[in-house]
Amino acid sequence: MANQHQVKAKKHLGQHFLEDESIAQDIADSLSLKGYNDVLEIGPGMGVLTKYLLKKDITTHVIEIDTESVEYLKNNYLNLADRIIEKDFLKYDLNLVFKDKPYAIIGNFPYNISSQILFKTLELRHQIPEFSGMFQKEVAMRICSKEGSKVYGILSVLTQAFYDAEYLFTVPPTVFNPPPKVDSGVLLLKRKANFTLPCDEKLFFRVVKTGFQQRRKTLRNSLKTFNLSDNLKANTIFGQRPEQLSVSQFIELTSLIENDIN
Ligand code: SAH
Repeated sequence: MANQHQVKAKKHLGQHFLEDESIAQDIADSLSLKGYNDVLEIGPGMGVLTKYLLKKDITTHVIEIDTESVEYLKNNYLNLADRIIEKDFLKYDLNLVFKDKPYAIIGNFPYNISSQILFKTLELRHQIPEFSGMFQKEVAMRICSKEGSKVYGILSVLTQAFYDAEYLFTVPPTVFNPPPKVDSGVLLLKRKANFTLPCDEKLFFRVVKTGFQQRRKTLRNSLKTFNLSDNLKANTIFGQRPEQLSVSQFIELTSLIENDIN
C-alpha cells in the first residue's frame, strides 16, 4: 500500500475509523453474496472494510462525502478508482449508477445519520436484497427488537415488515480512532422472500409512524387523525398500545383502516 498520510477524523461527518482488521473482515464476511453482483459501501473512510470487499467475487462501489477520504482511497486502492462516488448518500440518486440492478449495502455508518440511511434503504428495498452495517449499539438493537420490548418502535416495525433482522455482534469503543462514546452493534438484514405487503404500503408507513408518535397511548387515541368510524374503533386492536403490536398486526391494522377510510 502507498505510504499516504492518514485522514484526520472530522467530527461533523461522524468519522470514527475502525482499526481492528478482524472486525472489518467479519463485517465484510456477513454478506451472503447471493442474489446480487454489486455491493455499495457507505462511508468507506480509509477503506478498512473496503479492502476485504475488494477480495470478494463481487463488484464493490463506495460512496463517500469527504474529499480527503476520497483522495486517500484513490491513492491507495487503484482498482477502486472509477467506482468511488464522491457524494452524500442521503441525497444521491443511486439509479444513476445501478439502474435497476440489485445491490447490497454495507458500511460502518456515520452514527449521526444512521437512521436516515436505514430509511433511505427501506425506500430502495426493491433493489436491496441484503444490508449489513454497524450502528450505535442501541440503534442496532432497536431495529432488531420485537413487540413488547421497550425499544421496539418505528425503526423495528418498518424494517421487519420487509427484512429479517439479525443482531450479529457488539463492538467496543476501543477499536476506533477516535473512540465513540458508546458501544456499536453490527446487524444483518435479509429481505423477505415476499416483501410486498398485502395492504397499502404508504398507508402502512403513516399508521406506524403516527401510532408511535404517542407510544404510551392506545391506538384509538393516537390514530385519531385518521377519522376512523366508531364501528372500527370498537375493534379490540385499538385498545392496544403501539409497542404491543407485532409487525403482522400492524399490517392487519393498516388493512382495517384502508377498508374503513375508502
Ligand atoms: N468505514 C470507515 C469510516 C467510518 S466513519 C471505517 O470503518 O473506518 C463514517 C464515514 O462516513 C466517514 O468516512 C464519513 O466521511 C462518511 N460519511 C459521513 N456522512 C456521509 C454521507 N452523507 N454520505 C456518504 N458518506 C458519509
